[in-house]
Amino acid sequence: MRSSFQAPPVHLILRAYPPAPARVGLWRRPLPFRMAAAALSLMVFWGIAPWSFWVPPHYPWPVLSFGVGAYLAVWFSRSYRVRWFAGQCPRCAHPLELPRGAAINLPHALTCFHCHFEPRLEAFTEAEEERISVDEGHNLRHIRSECTGNWAEVALFRQPYLACSTCGARHHATPNLRQAAAEENETGRLLEELADEGRYLC
Ligand SMILES: [Zn+2]
Ligand SMILES: [Zn+2]
Repeated sequence: MRSSFQAPPVHLILRAYPPAPARVGLWRRPLPFRMAAAALSLMVFWGIAPWSFWVPPHYPWPVLSFGVGAYLAVWFSRSYRVRWFAGQCPRCAHPLELPRGAAINLPHALTCFHCHFEPRLEAFTEAEEERISVDEGHNLRHIRSECTGNWAEVALFRQPYLACSTCGARHHATPNLRQAAAEENETGRLLEELADEGRYLC
């Protein structure tokens, strides 16, 4: 049974912060392999636990066997092994680390050792982001509500984002939000023109 390689579109999410781009390469382990390996770990280590008690100094061995068996079973049951990863903390932009070979599920919580928050690495699809922006009314928002910066489309890790030039707000560039950004930029331009005309009139 071979592991299959995949690099799904992912982002790093932390409540109240703009999504941060990330890239991850994963080996996906086949489910039967994971189940078998997890079951085997339990059988072997939990199986020897009662017998290990006879070995001096007695007490640590059964506890250790139970612990190791449980740890390995959880480790083997996870869906992915990390091949490579790059991403930044959504809060402080510090680079995050996920070592090669780590066993994870998605979504996966990472710890930022710079600001000590725990952003979540999750897969996303443009269709799902579009649905969230339309159905749940997650509109374009600046970080500061009085911000009058312009939206521009930028590619971060080859993912299209809409970013504000002034306050650093960032959204996935879905069709709905692209249109909202174009409208907001246009309104901003008109207001500027009006202000210019106002200056001429005074
Ligand atoms: Zn951080
Ligand atoms: Zn802004």
